[in-house]
Amino acid sequence: MSDTAARPGAREQAGPHRTPLPGTPTHEHVSLAEDWVASNYSPLPVVIASAEGAWVTDVEGRRYLDALAGYSALNFGHRHPSLVAAARAQLDRLTLTSRAFHSDRLGPFCRDLAMLAGKDLVLPMNTGAEAVETAVKTARRWGYEVKGVPDGRARIVVMAGNFHGRTTTIVSFSDDPVAHDHYGPYTPGFDIVPFGDLEALEATITDETVAVLLEPVQGEAGVIIPPGGWLRGVRELTRSRDVLMVADEIQSGLGRTGTTFACGVEDVVPDVYVLGKALGGGIVPVSAVVADRDVLGVFTPGSHGSTFGGNPLAAAVGQAVVGLLATGEYQQQAHRLGVALESGLRELVGHGVDAVRCRGLWAGVDLDPDLMTGREASYRLLEQGVLVKDTHGSTVRIAPPLVASDGDIDLLIEAFGAILR
Ligand SMILES: *Cc1c(COP(=O)(O)O)cnc(C)c1O
Repeated sequence: MSDTAARPGAREQAGPHRTPLPGTPTHEHVSLAEDWVASNYSPLPVVIASAEGAWVTDVEGRRYLDALAGYSALNFGHRHPSLVAAARAQLDRLTLTSRAFHSDRLGPFCRDLAMLAGKDLVLPMNTGAEAVETAVKTARRWGYEVKGVPDGRARIVVMAGNFHGRTTTIVSFSDDPVAHDHYGPYTPGFDIVPFGDLEALEATITDETVAVLLEPVQGEAGVIIPPGGWLRGVRELTRSRDVLMVADEIQSGLGRTGTTFACGVEDVVPDVYVLGKALGGGIVPVSAVVADRDVLGVFTPGSHGSTFGGNPLAAAVGQAVVGLLATGEYQQQAHRLGVALESGLRELVGHGVDAVRCRGLWAGVDLDPDLMTGREASYRLLEQGVLVKDTHGSTVRIAPPLVASDGDIDLLIEAFGAILR
């Protein structure tokens, strides 16, 4: 490998919107993808071939710091040794039974995850959206069978700016036109209130409300942090009105915010945790709904299910993930690196950056819209050897793996400074 190839993201070409040079491996892969892959994403022109920890290497041997971390599915970095070992050992023993039979992996995984969350029961699924769907079904069934709402009348309050996944029911209550439009007819039964507005929430809850579904920090919306005390307010309100508090911690949970769950920042315990992304260790899709027996107990055999949910491979990896979180060291690392990230990014405010929002090792950076869009910023950071993803407009979201080093965070901040100069 030449010096140039080893330099993070080094390229001869300039300009943020260039396409990869024809005849290069990068170009070949990009045009194959353009020919054969449906265009429901618009990936940056980097073709990743291998990865380890917080770093990835492209097909031309260039290395990049992964500051997106699979939207927090890679909290423990790429190919974490103990997670890979758990997966590998399981591949050699048993991968799938279906839930028609027991496996020797599912019980231990669910026990450990329930204990991590301080709850009684786990319902394993695969993707995040499936877990959110499961939480919606849980809340409705609980509403009819426990709370006593007349059948078919249950309502769930959700937040403006929410992101909970891509199924038809979930996009029914998205207020993002790109995610929502032209997928109707839509699933009824949802009320949208402004994120962080306790009074609006209180005014919207009726006797037919069964749940409040929220992200403790809105990731896709641009790492939007609610006003202090809001989560606690939601907790008190839902308790007093006999409504389930359902926290979608798919992106915010499992260490990202410096606590095991983002609700923990305010010492709040929701009735239902919805987990995914990092629960699969970046290896396999693993999601789960975690709650007490008086809530998750509403399911009976046949009333819900999934062929792959809770499969032995997923359970082995999921249990290893829970094992990593049990010591608290990743949460501490997220907190410590997050402090460094925040102070570095704050220095850029007024120098091309309008605002910075941080929680743990997770940041939303609003660029001066006159300077560049978030998309442009991600192209420029790519050239600096840093992978990030824009969200809406001029916002960039930063979420490096929790295994990043202090030097990685410095490099990230330097790269950000460089693209603004
Ligand atoms: C990613 C995400 C989802 C959806 O997860 P998928 O695995 O993509 O279905 C749901 N909620 C939140 C908060 C997310 O970040």
